[in-house]
Amino acid sequence: MNDAVAQRKIAFGMPLIGPEERAAVAEVLNGPCLTHGPRVKEFERAFAEFTKAPYAIAVNSCTAALHLAYLAMGIGPGDEVIVPAQTHVATAHAVELVGARPVFCDSEPRTGNIDLDQIESLVTPRTKAISPVHYLGLPVDMKRLVSIANSKGLRVIEDCALSLGAYESNVHTGLLGDCGAFSFYPAKHITTAEGGMFITRDEQLAKRVSAGRAFGIDRNIVSERHLPGAYDVTALGLNYRMSELNAAMGICQMQRLSEILARRNENHARLTALLRQIEELELLSSIRIDAVNSHYCHVAILRGRLANRRVEIIERLKQIGVETSVYYPRPIPNMTYYTQRYGYTERDFPIAVRLSNQGIALPVGPHLTPDDMVYVAAMLKQVIREVASRG
Ligand SMILES: *Cc1c(COP(=O)(O)O)cnc(C)c1O
Repeated sequence: MNDAVAQRKIAFGMPLIGPEERAAVAEVLNGPCLTHGPRVKEFERAFAEFTKAPYAIAVNSCTAALHLAYLAMGIGPGDEVIVPAQTHVATAHAVELVGARPVFCDSEPRTGNIDLDQIESLVTPRTKAISPVHYLGLPVDMKRLVSIANSKGLRVIEDCALSLGAYESNVHTGLLGDCGAFSFYPAKHITTAEGGMFITRDEQLAKRVSAGRAFGIDRNIVSERHLPGAYDVTALGLNYRMSELNAAMGICQMQRLSEILARRNENHARLTALLRQIEELELLSSIRIDAVNSHYCHVAILRGRLANRRVEIIERLKQIGVETSVYYPRPIPNMTYYTQRYGYTERDFPIAVRLSNQGIALPVGPHLTPDDMVYVAAMLKQVIREVASRG
């Protein structure tokens, strides 16, 4: 590599935090109300408006939203939930947390999403739900998934941590099944530092999740409690509330969302065109008829004899300032906790293993420009050739 080449620093992810967020958080700190205030409601309203969700409930992580969904549905010991093997551990942990069993399903080779051809064979009399993940922002074929779920009487909990701004048939992800859970962790589309959102069309579910996020209390402190202490506890609950500080950030982030999505889309399109010219790479399909992808990142899979050279390639890229990532580093059933519990092996999930071992996740976030994409593709090509020539 010619070290005289002008180097850029390409971060994998970088939240867009501006003077608006800083002022909004300072305003909360200077005011009387750190939690139970108007900002959480305003953030929920903005999120509901964007997604067209009848109910949007802010919580302190996507994991919390998923956990509350299972609690609200009464899913627990003795029940099974089908989840993708290739996902964030939270998708499966939320099932474990209520004492139910996650049953893992391999990925579809073309997109990396849960393999719908395998779902029916995993359904048992104990199966209660399916939790699809819109992997990298490409919506799962929800028409087909929901029809499978309906034919078996299963609930559908969408993990939308990577799919803010992703739609099928003009319906936002999270509203295609029974409910959806979003993440506002810093690497995601928008951030509140830590945070999450639960959305649904189901009033009963919304009521239970809303109570569950605050100890199971039957009344909201701001609008319904006229006297201190005038509340009853009608269910077991947790404290999964979002604070006013996080919500203040969220409100500002929602105002940036259209721009964020447009930039991701533009970067992704540019990067796709360039990566197609690198013959050592296989690209996951990122389009589906009648669906909108939220373009979380781009995963390129190393082919042939480069398949086991991923570590060298990502290390070299890092050295020259190009950060990459892996989505996700190991299929969840092959993580120690799940292997010890259920005895899965890597042979059970060949497609997920391939994505984990041979995939390189490349950034397309709004902190980067199409010109940066040209740079990323050029550096990747150069490093691939360099590693290949070392034999
Ligand atoms: C990031 C992520 C989560 C976890 O989100 P938190 O807000 O950190 O709880 C869950 N599922 C998927 C698919 C994710 O990528």
